[in-house]
Amino acid sequence: MISEGELYLAAKSISNQNIMRTVSQTDIAPSIARSLGIRLPNPDGRPIYEIERWRCKRAILIIVDSLGYELYRSFLQHLKHMREIVATGFLFRALHASDHTSPAIASILSGLTPEHHGIYDTESAKRSPILSLPEIASSSGLRSAVIMEKGGAEVYDGLIEYIGAVPRTLPPEEFDQHICRLTVEALSTDPDLVVSYFIGLDKAAHNGLNLDGFVKAAVSIDAHIGEIFRRAGTGTVIVIVGDHPVHAGHMKNDDDRNVALIIGRKT
Ligand SMILES: [Zn+2]
Repeated sequence: MISEGELYLAAKSISNQNIMRTVSQTDIAPSIARSLGIRLPNPDGRPIYEIERWRCKRAILIIVDSLGYELYRSFLQHLKHMREIVATGFLFRALHASDHTSPAIASILSGLTPEHHGIYDTESAKRSPILSLPEIASSSGLRSAVIMEKGGAEVYDGLIEYIGAVPRTLPPEEFDQHICRLTVEALSTDPDLVVSYFIGLDKAAHNGLNLDGFVKAAVSIDAHIGEIFRRAGTGTVIVIVGDHPVHAGHMKNDDDRNVALIIGRKT
């Protein structure tokens, strides 16, 4: 049973969401690079000025597959932890670089448009000479961790300090549990940069789940994000972003050209 006081607080925190302008997914890597004090060579995006002065000991970047802006807004009441993180920083609309997962993630991680990074799937990512944020951080003397599906994680073999590879064949809920568990494990190795990827919402879309199924997937990812934020340590900047708006199933909304971009911090 939810008390009136709790309902009031939930409504207050929804209305207090610090909603900002529209930025681009290619702005994310330059922004994180600046917070960590490293240099990204010739990105297409530019650092987001609202967080320009944020310096951090650690950055956590969480990519949530299919976290469209409108989807985030309509599920807001269920996303307690993400709301709490927005309250420590900002919520932006971010123009997505591609409708497909691999090129969008490559843009998030490199700060380059798909035309400039030329990555369209996991194979082209493995062959690509383009350096992305985790590799640049590691070659600058920082410690990086990447936790994502096996094919994507293998791109970083031998290049960074911690790799968490989760098989795509797992049921979505289990996949996301593994991602959360490995992210927490990675955090215990004191990394400077952590990149994690959750799949549940996208699977809900592709598997044609009803609204309840979507909400369940969103609530479960939100809980994982809450757990990660709780263990993040002070001086952490946390960035949560969708790769593209929902592109399948009944929640697909062709008017939604943006993804949710949450940037918060633990001080
Ligand atoms: Zn995707």
